[in-house]
Amino acid sequence: MLMNDISPASTLVADQQAPLRRVLIETWGCQMNVADSERMLALLATDNYQATLVPEEADLIILNTCHIREKARHKVVSRLGRLQELRHTNKDLTIAVTGCVAQAEGKSLLASHAIDIIVGPGKIAELPALVANHKQWKQKAIAIGFSKAELLDPADQTCQKSALEPPPSLEGKNPVARFVTIQQGCNNFCTFCVVPFTRGSEISLRPRTIRAEVAAMLAQGVKEITLLGQNVNSYGHDLLAASSPAGEELLAAPEEQPFVALLKDLVTLPGLESLRFTTSNPHDMTAELAALFATEAKLGKHYHLPLQSGSDRILQAMKRKVTRADYLSKISWLRQAVPDMALSTDLIVGFPGESDEDFADTLSILAEVRYSFVFAFTYSPRKGTAAIRFKEQVPEAIKQERLRRLNLLQDQITLEENQAEVGKIRQVLVHYRSRKNPLYFYGRTEHYRLVRIRSDQEIRGQVLGLTILAANKIALAAEY
Ligand code: SF4
Repeated sequence: MLMNDISPASTLVADQQAPLRRVLIETWGCQMNVADSERMLALLATDNYQATLVPEEADLIILNTCHIREKARHKVVSRLGRLQELRHTNKDLTIAVTGCVAQAEGKSLLASHAIDIIVGPGKIAELPALVANHKQWKQKAIAIGFSKAELLDPADQTCQKSALEPPPSLEGKNPVARFVTIQQGCNNFCTFCVVPFTRGSEISLRPRTIRAEVAAMLAQGVKEITLLGQNVNSYGHDLLAASSPAGEELLAAPEEQPFVALLKDLVTLPGLESLRFTTSNPHDMTAELAALFATEAKLGKHYHLPLQSGSDRILQAMKRKVTRADYLSKISWLRQAVPDMALSTDLIVGFPGESDEDFADTLSILAEVRYSFVFAFTYSPRKGTAAIRFKEQVPEAIKQERLRRLNLLQDQITLEENQAEVGKIRQVLVHYRSRKNPLYFYGRTEHYRLVRIRSDQEIRGQVLGLTILAANKIALAAEY
């Protein structure tokens, strides 16, 4: 038996003695931040905080920040400037900065700006106590850094993501699809990336903690879970190395890749319709994982495999540890498992030293793989990373022109791939109803394509077999 059930929801409840307070969380950046914001809300709910979207109502404002793009600090400082006005009418307001900017630049931000609390991604469990302290004593506080030992035992109440935490409330959230973080940090040090510096080295949550959180969400009616990590394919390797009790849980299936074992276990949970994950480093992606898609329908028919560049020279400069040929062979594993597998990727254009030929290699891989969608960005130098010191920085105008050409080509491919869906019957999990027009719902096919569905019945949370009637580059259209 791989994992044991534990009961996460039963032990922490809202402190009914505490006054009702309101918290506004502004979340920037990736899905990891979305999951962290939900976790902060769940933790603060035990001190009777309820979410609000209105800054004037808030007793606590949290900016959950992203450091992946340039000018991250500038963006935070600018937002803080506007929030200071609220202090004129609300003397008790607490302002906290969390996320990757807090981790990377928290010390100098706290010294120079009107922030009360700084909390890095590795210290979220400390947030409620720091907020309570600030409310009582008006003490500024900073909690940054990473603490591995706390993570390994979910019975420990200081655990960074303890199984004793309540599951996040579904109020105001998508009640059908939710994120669950399975791993923090990254050990790879790609030369452009700030994540290993802001989120630390890889820390996997133990399997039974993840299982309990997923089970709690499913019990609330959630149908789709997306597992989050910077490098999910290497999930569990740190637990094995630590020879901890969690490692022993993984070793219950010694012949399997820990991430594959985790997926195989989670798909057995009752109520789960769809299990997705992001993000994968192609270096750690295995044939074993690709093969699982052939037998496990709940994993769907879509894989997001970040490439970053189609040029071997640039991949080497990025320290991605794969060649173009390695990457394409992993794509072929996936398409052997599921011949019509939809693929998506991340690409960077204008990395230092990228020549016209290197960029042409990136364009050619779009045509070769025919991705269903691509997240493409211009290279943005990040403090502390190796690539900021590379000599041949590409001028901004060239980066922008390459991005424009890449997006033009990919838009055409996305349109053609979507139009090829017209007339087919696809299984669609319906996620939410349009706020503007209640006759329209939105869902995702097993290939992760967005579908707009016209229906005069309530269909949220259902898996429907729908004929695709039309398509543009954004979405497919169907009726129920
Ligand atoms: S694998 Fe991803 S998160 Fe890790 S350093 Fe590379 S780009 Fe950053």
